Amino acid sequence: MQTEQKKPFRFLDLPAELRDMIYDHLLEDPYFPLPPTCGKQHQHSTLPSLGWVLPGRRLSAARAGATGPRRCNWMLLANRQCYREFMDLVCMKSTIHLTVSPANYKSQEAGDETEKKLWKVDPEVLRKVKKCDIKLITTSAMLGVSDPRKMSPGEWALSSQVRSELSDVNNVEELNLHVQALGDPLWNPLWVWYHASQSFKTMGSPRPTSPSTSSEYKGRLGPTLHRITFSLDIWSPGENYLERDAEGHWQWYCMKGHCIAPDGAGVLPVREFCARLYMECRVCSPESDVEADAAR
Ligand SMILES: [Zn+2]
Repeated sequence: MQTEQKKPFRFLDLPAELRDMIYDHLLEDPYFPLPPTCGKQHQHSTLPSLGWVLPGRRLSAARAGATGPRRCNWMLLANRQCYREFMDLVCMKSTIHLTVSPANYKSQEAGDETEKKLWKVDPEVLRKVKKCDIKLITTSAMLGVSDPRKMSPGEWALSSQVRSELSDVNNVEELNLHVQALGDPLWNPLWVWYHASQSFKTMGSPRPTSPSTSSEYKGRLGPTLHRITFSLDIWSPGENYLERDAEGHWQWYCMKGHCIAPDGAGVLPVREFCARLYMECRVCSPESDVEADAAR
C-alpha cells in the first residue's frame, strides 16, 4: 500500500480534456514586454519569450493587486507537449497584450540597420491568437518628426514596424488599439491620437481593386483593428472612440457606447478628427441638441 502511494502522478497519462481543465485554472493574460512593475527584467534573459509565464514576475500591477502572482506555471517548462497544449489554450482564451512605449521603442538612428524588435513573441502564438490588445504609450517624439503638423500618417516608422511585427497575426477575432498620449510641453497630445488613428485605421483593409500606389498598399499591411480608444497620462474629459460596425465601417462612439457619428472615408483632416473626438452624445446630453437647435 505504502509503495503504491509513493508512485509519481503521471500528468500526461490524464486524458487531454482533463489536462485542459487543469491548464484552464492557470490561464492568465500574457504581456509583451512585461510591465516595469514586475521588476528584475533580465533575471531570465535566456528565456525572453517565456518571461511572462515564469512565476512571480509577469503580472500587470492591476492584475497582481487583484489576485496576487501565481506560482504554478513552472509546469510550462516541463516539456514541449505541456508548453504547446497550454499555449494553444492561451491563444484561444486569453488576451495577449502588446505594448509600445518609450521603454521598448527607439526611433531608428541614421545608419543603424539593426531594427530592435518590440515584442519577443513566438510567431506560432501570433498566428493562433484570437484576442489581442495593443497599447501605444506614445510621446510626440515617437512620431519621429520635428513638426507633427507636416507629417503624413502613412510615413510613420513606428506604425510600419508594428505592422511588420504583426504580420503573423492572421486568425485574430478581436484586435483593439489603445493610444495613450504622454504629455509634452511643445505639442498637443491630439497629434499623437490623430496620427495613430489615421495610420492604423486602414490596417488590414482589403486591397482595393483599382491600382494603388505602393505607399497606399503599405498602409493596409497587417491585421484588421476592431476598436481604437484614446487616453492621456493625466486626467482628461473623456474621449470618444472608434469602432467598426457590423459592416466593417468605422463609427464614433461616446464613452457609454452610443453611436455618435460615422468616421469619414480615408484620412480625415485634423479638424474633423478633433470634432468627432469630442462630439457631444445626443443620448447622454440631450441638451446639446437643444442648444444646437437654438443656435440655428
Ligand atoms: Zn452617450
